[in-house]
Amino acid sequence: MRTPATPDFFGRTREELQELFALEMPDVPKFRAGQVYRWLYARRAQSFAEMTDLPKALQAELKKRFKLPKLKLAHLSESSDGTRKFLFTLSDGLSIETVLIPSEMIDERGETKRKTLCVSTQVGCPLDCKFCATASLKLKRNLTTAEILLQVFEAERLTGETITNLVFMGMGEPMLNLEHVARAIRIMTDPETEILGKKRITVSTSGLPEAIREFTQMNLGVKLALSLHATTNELRSRLMPINRRYPLEEVLAAMEDYYQQSRIPVTYEYIVFHGLNDGPADAKRLAKITRRCPSKVNVIPFHPIDFTHPEGISAELAPAPKAEFERFLAMLRTEGVRVMVRTSSGVDIEAACGQLALAQEKPVELVLP
Ligand code: SAH
Repeated sequence: MRTPATPDFFGRTREELQELFALEMPDVPKFRAGQVYRWLYARRAQSFAEMTDLPKALQAELKKRFKLPKLKLAHLSESSDGTRKFLFTLSDGLSIETVLIPSEMIDERGETKRKTLCVSTQVGCPLDCKFCATASLKLKRNLTTAEILLQVFEAERLTGETITNLVFMGMGEPMLNLEHVARAIRIMTDPETEILGKKRITVSTSGLPEAIREFTQMNLGVKLALSLHATTNELRSRLMPINRRYPLEEVLAAMEDYYQQSRIPVTYEYIVFHGLNDGPADAKRLAKITRRCPSKVNVIPFHPIDFTHPEGISAELAPAPKAEFERFLAMLRTEGVRVMVRTSSGVDIEAACGQLALAQEKPVELVLP
């Protein structure tokens, strides 16, 4: 089940490509690795034959030795709000989902149009959060660096759009596949590939303090979000069993540390569940948490996952009615919390937060651009 730590040819950083060249093709001059690096990620070549400034003999040698991986599009569904969901088949036949969410909003940079890509990091997920559809799949395996990068490349190729923001909020827990997630981030944020700026990438985690600390040490310069959803250990453990192993205090300390080291404000994600976590005491405790270090809260409406046939507490979860949701927002604002409301994109195609689950994939129409 373990994804190998050593990346394939595609998915290597510049240094890793240089190492590979030095080891396997010692006669090839060192600068060739840099050329290949640019072809792979900046120019997005899909074959060695496209790498026209390499000698023909080297093109042929590379072709003989290495395979350039592909993601196969199995389905592309489009929501009435413009959200598109891609179902990709991996080389071993497993599938993942990737979601492209267009939005119009005025952000800190005064921008109005965003194209946010939500990428997966694992096939399935081992964490069993009670509100999340992916949990029903269990973990199949980690994605490779290549499979993470290709979600971006393929989404852009298939739609002709340029992605402006990237969130690691698809299937899986990024902190459990940190090595490949970090490598993909390093490649994407390298000025030479010009794929995305550091501040346009957000890694979202269920809260694994040891991995968060390792992530902090990596100094990637991207934003970090915590799926908080509850302000007491009692409730959080019921919703997210991982909280029994890593209670709130430890998780929050790791988040605070991330801020202290990176000086990048952190985000807390908070799904509002009807009558469960949306009272005045919850708002007060949430506000207190946000005061630990510069941060903001993303308040998210709960997207029902009835299609996974939930049982136990999962079956009892319901979205807060509009008035209740608004009341909770108002309480947070009164407490001085910076609150953003995450809109429900792609609900009609089950592409909204936490709705990604392949086993329940209904047949959808293939809409090719
Ligand atoms: N494992 C990571 C990233 C994937 S989940 C994490 O836990 O953060 C991405 C976001 O979607 C998280 O904030 C998650 O809590 C949220 N989410 C999951 N299921 C949801 C649902 N049914 N409705 C709304 N948000 C959901």
